[in-house]
Amino acid sequence: MIPFSFIYCRPDSLKEAADIYRQLRTEGKAPVYYAGGSEIITMCRSGSIRPDAVIDIKNIPECTALAMDGQVLTIGTACTLNQIKESKLFPLLGLACGRIADHTNQCRITLGGNLCGTIIYRETSLPLLLSDADLVLYGEKGKRTVLFHSVFRGRMQLDSGELAVQVRIPGWALQAHHAHVKITANEKIDYPLVDVAAIRKDNFLRTAFSGVCSHPFRSKEMEAVLNDRSLPYEVRADKAVKLLPEPAYGDVEGTGAYRIFVLKNTLRKLLEDWENDQI
Ligand SMILES: Cc1cc2nc3c(=O)[nH]c(=O)nc-3n(C[C@H](O)[C@H](O)[C@H](O)COP(=O)(O)OP(=O)(O)OC[C@H]3O[C@@H](n4cnc5c(N)ncnc54)[C@H](O)[C@@H]3O)c2cc1C
Repeated sequence: MIPFSFIYCRPDSLKEAADIYRQLRTEGKAPVYYAGGSEIITMCRSGSIRPDAVIDIKNIPECTALAMDGQVLTIGTACTLNQIKESKLFPLLGLACGRIADHTNQCRITLGGNLCGTIIYRETSLPLLLSDADLVLYGEKGKRTVLFHSVFRGRMQLDSGELAVQVRIPGWALQAHHAHVKITANEKIDYPLVDVAAIRKDNFLRTAFSGVCSHPFRSKEMEAVLNDRSLPYEVRADKAVKLLPEPAYGDVEGTGAYRIFVLKNTLRKLLEDWENDQI
């Protein structure tokens, strides 16, 4: 049970959503955008947030779009992980979606919720960081389109009241050779100890990570080492893990040292597969 009352709004357009957000703020209320609601409801129940209003974005056509537009794939942020996976339009993102939570929750959790929520793993960000994706945002000043990685730096850096509307992925990335490895401590369905996504472009391996540090990231320095084919892949993996952007993350699932051990082995296997043309 949620132990307080709040206003529920379900706008039909981006402009209406932004207008409602502004109006509520003017009245001194604290609204939040609401997508799948799984995190918002859990946090309301536990008392860690207490929004005065939720603005449900699932009636906004731009937020529910999931279609090819010429060579570009558009995915609305209110699409669920299961819709993205079942569409098979971006196989690497489908693999990432298919390893977050269980099927029931995948039918509820949205792309926008995974990217904008407080859970640190945000695993759907990895394919987007690798694929030169664009991000469409809507705020007080209207619509703007930016490179995904310019706004997603470990987490979404949105302006106050700004809504993430869509991601757009260029055609080359949809068909590119790719790999996805998620290692968990115990169960198949769990938060990652190490999550690695990789895409091959012009025989260069792009890599992005979650679980290893306190935020998801793509590192050009690590990629340079991993792609140095003058070195044996074991040496490349050893050198790459020394280039993490911050000390490895540790929690009850695994210490930082253990995550580095797992990452090193995962990278060795990834490079071996690449050498053997399996990526
Ligand atoms: C059982 C379970 C297992 C999980 N396992 C994993 C896992 O293994 N890996 C992983 O990465 N995550 C995992 N998660 C986390 C999950 O992806 C997040 O909790 C996510 O926020 C839920 O999405 P939602 O659509 O329900 O978000 P909501 O509860 O609707 O929203 C979450 C937050 O994002 C904001 N928001 C949502 N959409 C937008 C938007 N379009 N623009 C701006 N802000 C927005 C909301 O205002 C709110 O602050 C798990 C969650 C559950 C319940």
